[in-house]
Amino acid sequence: MKVVYHPLMKESYDHTPAGAPGRLDTSVKILSEHPDYDIVMPKPATEQQLLLAHDDGTISRVKRESESSSKQNLYKTALLAAGGAILTGKIAIEEDVAFGLIRPPGHHASRSSYWGFCYFNNIAISLLELKNEGLIESAFLLDFDLHTGDGNINILDSESSFVISNPRSNNEEDYLREVRAVLESSPEVDIIAASAGFDQYIHCWGSNLSTKAFYEIGFMMYEFAKEKCDGKRYGVLEGGYNHEDLGRNVLAFCEGLRGVQSTIL
Ligand SMILES: [Zn+2]
Repeated sequence: MKVVYHPLMKESYDHTPAGAPGRLDTSVKILSEHPDYDIVMPKPATEQQLLLAHDDGTISRVKRESESSSKQNLYKTALLAAGGAILTGKIAIEEDVAFGLIRPPGHHASRSSYWGFCYFNNIAISLLELKNEGLIESAFLLDFDLHTGDGNINILDSESSFVISNPRSNNEEDYLREVRAVLESSPEVDIIAASAGFDQYIHCWGSNLSTKAFYEIGFMMYEFAKEKCDGKRYGVLEGGYNHEDLGRNVLAFCEGLRGVQSTIL
């Protein structure tokens, strides 16, 4: 399975928990040492691609924020994150399942504003790029981050053939049941994508989901894709702030997403 990642993502680019030093270290180590995962490097998104989801003013504001000496990597990294999501979606459509190990996250970035550690809306840009290129018309977007992806809704809600789900249940059993129910009730689509946040983790802010639950969510997406969208599926990283366990949670989700039938995590 392809993992889209660029070494600049490892460097801190701001003072938010998402940009903290060391946050991606366990994920990079586990996935790069795993024989079933190949790291591929993205190119930065172009301004034209950013404009699919954002207005000019938002792009300029992120650029200006990066002029501060403590955020000098910000704009470059944000462009790579958006470009990373685009590449992840492309691989999912043209080759096989893929995961974007990217930051800054994006699901709180709206067309004309951003907050919540996000700058550009990576997943929205990637879906709109696929649509723009005529590769998809419809999509299911599952956002399992602890926080509602208000940016995803702001940008994609006007797309009538896109379904966006932000499950809300506050215990694992109910949460997985809710995910299953929304997936079952979805019509056939061209692709399923995930805003993959790991801050619902039992040892992170949400205190809700186990590592196994992330595997189950990935596996449900795998089954959905087989049944409803010709196997087309991908995810990109959003939140998740337990640095030590983020790698095993990302791996658990990816193992489910690629359809590995295993209970050993
Ligand atoms: Zn979050």
